[in-house]
Amino acid sequence: MTIRHHPSNETLIAYTAGTLDLGRRLVVASHVERCAACRGFVHGLEKVAGVMLEDLSPAPMSADALAHMLARIDREPAARAAKSLAAKPLAPAHDEPGLPACLAPYEMGRWRWVGPGVQMRPVLVPETGKLRVFLLKGAPGIHLPQHSHEGSELTSILVGSYHHEGGDFRAGDFEEADADVEHRPIVGKDKACICLVALEGQLKLSGFIGSLLNPFVRL
Ligand SMILES: [Zn+2]
Repeated sequence: MTIRHHPSNETLIAYTAGTLDLGRRLVVASHVERCAACRGFVHGLEKVAGVMLEDLSPAPMSADALAHMLARIDREPAARAAKSLAAKPLAPAHDEPGLPACLAPYEMGRWRWVGPGVQMRPVLVPETGKLRVFLLKGAPGIHLPQHSHEGSELTSILVGSYHHEGGDFRAGDFEEADADVEHRPIVGKDKACICLVALEGQLKLSGFIGSLLNPFVRL
């Protein structure tokens, strides 16, 4: 597989630093698990971060620090148990072939039609706020509606391909778009295209087909 489109360095740095929200992290992770170049970049960043932590000089401790720490250890097992219960992943969704490993702990909604030749399937992640995470499937050769974005849109192409003014995107590729980008993707003719998408805010759809896709932006 030749991967030609990768996340920006800024996105990979935020991914490595753990500052991306869960939805975006999943979309980036689905690319990184398939892309040796990005895995290498991420590992390099992790090494640099490790060296920086080692270089930090130790902070002076107060006289009662040990007593405070022991008291905290006494209190924390219950809190940790409660937290691990809350963070317990949902039943894995293994009914979809070819899904990236990072999606395995997350349950998904049903596929639903959102327009001619276009289906979406929500990924049920907690605490997404204005961000929606979903699989999007376009039939071979279908023209997706022309649209721009209110916020950012991260797309990881899992199966098939699409193209638009910004280039050709194939399985393994990654696309980042923001509010300045307006495009009209066309799915490759050979097979359906399935993408994992993290979309912030609303799409700004144009045209008749766009109006058919309204349910798509109100997940
Ligand atoms: Zn990459």
